[in-house]
Amino acid sequence: MTTRVRVAVRSRPLVEKETSDGCETCVTPIDETQVLLGKDKYFTFDYAFGPNVCQEEVFQSCGYPLIEAIFKGFNATMLAYGQTGSGKTYTMGTGKIAEGSNEESLGIIPRVVEALFSTMKEKEQEAEFVTRVSFLEIYNEEIKDLLSSENQNLCIREDTQGVKVSGLTEHVVTAPTEALNLLCNGGEFRAVGSTKMNETSSRSHAIFTIYIDRQSKSQKEDSWSAKFHLERRDNINLGLLALGNVVSALGDEKRKKNVSHIPYRDSKLTRLLQDSLGGNSYTLMMACVSPADSNMEETLNTLRYADRAK
Ligand code: ADP
Repeated sequence: MTTRVRVAVRSRPLVEKETSDGCETCVTPIDETQVLLGKDKYFTFDYAFGPNVCQEEVFQSCGYPLIEAIFKGFNATMLAYGQTGSGKTYTMGTGKIAEGSNEESLGIIPRVVEALFSTMKEKEQEAEFVTRVSFLEIYNEEIKDLLSSENQNLCIREDTQGVKVSGLTEHVVTAPTEALNLLCNGGEFRAVGSTKMNETSSRSHAIFTIYIDRQSKSQKEDSWSAKFHLERRDNINLGLLALGNVVSALGDEKRKKNVSHIPYRDSKLTRLLQDSLGGNSYTLMMACVSPADSNMEETLNTLRYADRAK
């Protein structure tokens, strides 16, 4: 069994408001894996990205390995977290290019979708692929389908094929734009209106999942299904705390041998990600932080949480 959890930290540049408020930078990237907070708090992760690292570089270093894992039949998960305004939306990206920006600023989600489709195209001689997407929200520990107006309070089921949400709609997509349009449209059905997101989002997780089924053209038995979860969220809430516990239990060799000791059941988020965390899977946790000294305390919390996940 292969479980790989990698942790990245990304510190954005100071935004205009912070500069005009006279904020100073308190996060210093030391090298590709280490950051310094304030004068003496050093943190080491699998990746450390400073304010000058571009979107393509972030995608190439920590997004692309997940694409490679998917095409070996592994499940993959990428989660971004950090306080509001720390750069999660910028890093993960949305289904659309933001007004006034260019392709270089595209986030990881559209790059992942693009790379999945171009890899399938490269491999179309050898295998047939079917791609589906789903989009759900966990709000107050209830699961809601974001791609259907009807499906509320859905249940999680486990069978031999893994973890499933009963009744969740899955939509077949044949091109990157189709997948990204569903990601944009999903916003319509959110329990929390986008204008209220900042106040209430601490209780909600939105998970966009891409499923890929591969069937070899030459050998009937040669097939696999893999899923790629992409998630972005604000404060460290119940789900994320439970996730931290699962990830650190997985890192503990003694507990890993006894699966019943991994606390998956503590939240909907960890139950849902169960076969993408503990099974044959790859996970990337992207901690986003503001470099401003006015946010130092929140940044320290985010880095400490990330440190535990290693
Ligand atoms: P969050 O989603 O965590 O609330 P945002 O992604 O909206 O935060 O980022 C807050 C602001 O900082 C936005 O104006 C965004 O464009 C800017 N920003 C975030 N990360 C970067 C970055 N790496 N480079 C340039 N600007 C960034």
